[in-house]
Amino acid sequence: MSDTYARSNLAAIDAAHHLHPFSDMKKLNADGARIIQRGEGVYIWDAKGKKYLDGFAGLWCVNIGYGRHEIADAVARQMKELPYYNTFFGTTTTPATLLSEKVVSHAGPHLNHVFFTASGSEANDTWFRMARVYWAAVGKPSKKIVIARKNGYHGSTVAGASLGGMKYMHEQGDLPIPGIVHIDQPYWYGEGGDLSPDEFGLKVARQLEEKIDELGEENVAAFVAEPVQGAGGVIIPPNTYWPEIQRICKARNILLVADEVICGFGRLGEWFGHQHFGVEPDLAPVAKGLSSGYLPVGGVLVSDRVADVLINDVGDFNHGFTYSGHPVCATAALENLRILEDERLVERVRDNIGPYFARAWGALGDHDLVGEAVSIGLMGALQLAADKKTRMRFEKPDAVGALVRNHALANGLVLRATGDRMLASPPLVITHEEVDEMIRITRIALDSAWRELKS
Ligand code: PMP
Repeated sequence: MSDTYARSNLAAIDAAHHLHPFSDMKKLNADGARIIQRGEGVYIWDAKGKKYLDGFAGLWCVNIGYGRHEIADAVARQMKELPYYNTFFGTTTTPATLLSEKVVSHAGPHLNHVFFTASGSEANDTWFRMARVYWAAVGKPSKKIVIARKNGYHGSTVAGASLGGMKYMHEQGDLPIPGIVHIDQPYWYGEGGDLSPDEFGLKVARQLEEKIDELGEENVAAFVAEPVQGAGGVIIPPNTYWPEIQRICKARNILLVADEVICGFGRLGEWFGHQHFGVEPDLAPVAKGLSSGYLPVGGVLVSDRVADVLINDVGDFNHGFTYSGHPVCATAALENLRILEDERLVERVRDNIGPYFARAWGALGDHDLVGEAVSIGLMGALQLAADKKTRMRFEKPDAVGALVRNHALANGLVLRATGDRMLASPPLVITHEEVDEMIRITRIALDSAWRELKS
């Protein structure tokens, strides 16, 4: 491995052979990929030795921070004992079974079952099939359509990208597949017009009811949404939104699916986003923070309502992955959950570092370039705006976001830009001083971008 690291032409090899996710490969090959080599706590180092504060926890996932040798040690032990076995054909492994008990112990009391996957996309494909199988088994086979949201993100597989509401993804590969429709997102800043956030929250939630009426309740299987829309720009719904969604799903007898891939495992200061908003999903895809990204593992948390039917009435559910319940990945997840529990990291987000981050991040709202600075737990967004008073956006939102992101990177901070929203999602172990450093560099990046835009 160290020989490989020492090769000075890694960027050239990468350009010659490696196709990256969500990347303009021509541009990336010309620029050369940044090679990240080491991580410790909230910091990462690239091959040139430059240090960055990772304000994005990898990809919303490194909740316990980098460099936790407990996970490496547990994984090494499991690798030596049993590197792989499947959970098909009447078998299981100790880590997979123990993880099933542990992961549901933190979710809402009605979620007592889990189906394992290796990723968040697979988790979304899994519940998509499970929901249809459920309705067929209870004698309502016409209930097939899933209602999702514009600008939502549920993965990159065919079902995941179809459930997601990213237009630029639908344009590639003729998506969405049939049986998936989208309603508006609760994005007050961009789409709320003259309504108050609470009025707007109710209005967009009620689109769900209107859509069900249009399609016919007998044809609708489920509604899916992220508790807080992540990749879409950390869209925190108005307070009125989730209670109304929950009411509609119950009243109209459709399954509620909370995509917890980002919000799960402490990001919002509760174990799961549905707990923060006080809703009871029937199905909840998870991944990312389940292992803090140390190894790929995901799953679907399944309510008693759905699991009872699946267990008693379906017979074989003809679905599953080679790596469902992978024993080494499950070991990493178990050790990760132990760390989250023992170090009370979820409670720390709720009671300590979350409120600290909210104050520090919120203060960036006074910057001329920032239309609003919002956060929830350890998830934050800065809405960049051409005119703060009128909520006017820039003509080329992507360019402004990229400008701020690049200034942040040059100054040693990883932030993500989604259009004209700057997103932050640091590891849950971040200290007060590290939050201060994050804010200081973000301000430098905003100042630099503002100067450039004015000139
Ligand atoms: N759902 C949500 C809410 C996500 O944020 C993501 C990934 N960013 C996914 C699903 C897909 O997960 P994966 O990339 O592990 O397939």
